[in-house]
Amino acid sequence: MSLVIVGSIVFDTIETPCERRERIIGGSCSYSALAASYFTKPKIVSVVGDDFPEEMIEKFNEKGIDTRGLARKKGKTFFWEGKYGDDPNQRTTIKTEINVFREFKPQLLPDYKEADIVLLGTIAPEIQLDVLSQVKSPKLTAMDTINFYIENNFEALLESIKKVDIYFGNDEEVKKITGETNLIKAGRELLEQGPSLVVIKKGEHGVMMIGQEFISGMLAHPCEEVIDPTGAGDSFAGGFLGYLDKVSSFQEEDLRKAAVYGSVMASFTIQDFGIKRLESLTASDINQRFEEIKNIVSF
Ligand code: AMP
Repeated sequence: MSLVIVGSIVFDTIETPCERRERIIGGSCSYSALAASYFTKPKIVSVVGDDFPEEMIEKFNEKGIDTRGLARKKGKTFFWEGKYGDDPNQRTTIKTEINVFREFKPQLLPDYKEADIVLLGTIAPEIQLDVLSQVKSPKLTAMDTINFYIENNFEALLESIKKVDIYFGNDEEVKKITGETNLIKAGRELLEQGPSLVVIKKGEHGVMMIGQEFISGMLAHPCEEVIDPTGAGDSFAGGFLGYLDKVSSFQEEDLRKAAVYGSVMASFTIQDFGIKRLESLTASDINQRFEEIKNIVSF
């Protein structure tokens, strides 16, 4: 099968209570594609400016990521700055500079249009919808977003939600979109909009999946020290869909396993700044954590 991921590639400045890192590489597309690359060969759709290092694109290629859909435009790469307090689930966005994304109109290559699975990663919903409209007959579509678009592009965001099979969101976003405080009610309300599965990420408490026919919960891999939570959600989505692309099956059992692989990939991301930890994993690192989560949730 084949997986196409659209999302942001960004210079992130991140401040945690312990450390500040300036202009490290992040963005939803970077995290999701790297996480998915351990299961399949994702094709990415994104744009960077002329200030973006060529070596990073080479690294993506070395990981088996197809970067033919990555445009390089004159101007600055997307920039984002975020700050975490003592609770890693609470983040404040200090700055968002869309830069080269402002004019971005992706034109999918012919083989990208044949994608089986499409991840509309965090990016303007108008771009998500544009990409989706170009893919001919995807078997599975999924999306993620971030507060910025809930606050600034709400109507277009609702259009994206209506058109996808899976909606990934954290508990705060899901409550904000639906106006519900109860997560089950919020999940069910989102199901009514169109998706057949809502995956709600709840930090160290793991994820809750609400489908038309089933509800499932999964604990996150236990981690006592979170270095940088940025990208956990995107890594989850990349691992989840990368696994589904590999097994080519979307039964309930596959979705449950995909949620474990998603949690595993997110657990690595938060153990270092940016994409660092995601760049250097082995299959045995991933399988070991998969088994550890399996033991934790079995009864
Ligand atoms: P997450 O922690 O999974 O929500 O993802 C954080 C990543 O999203 C960071 O690497 C940011 O660069 C990226 N990001 C932040 N704001 C935006 C935005 N408005 N559009 C697209 N990507 C963003």
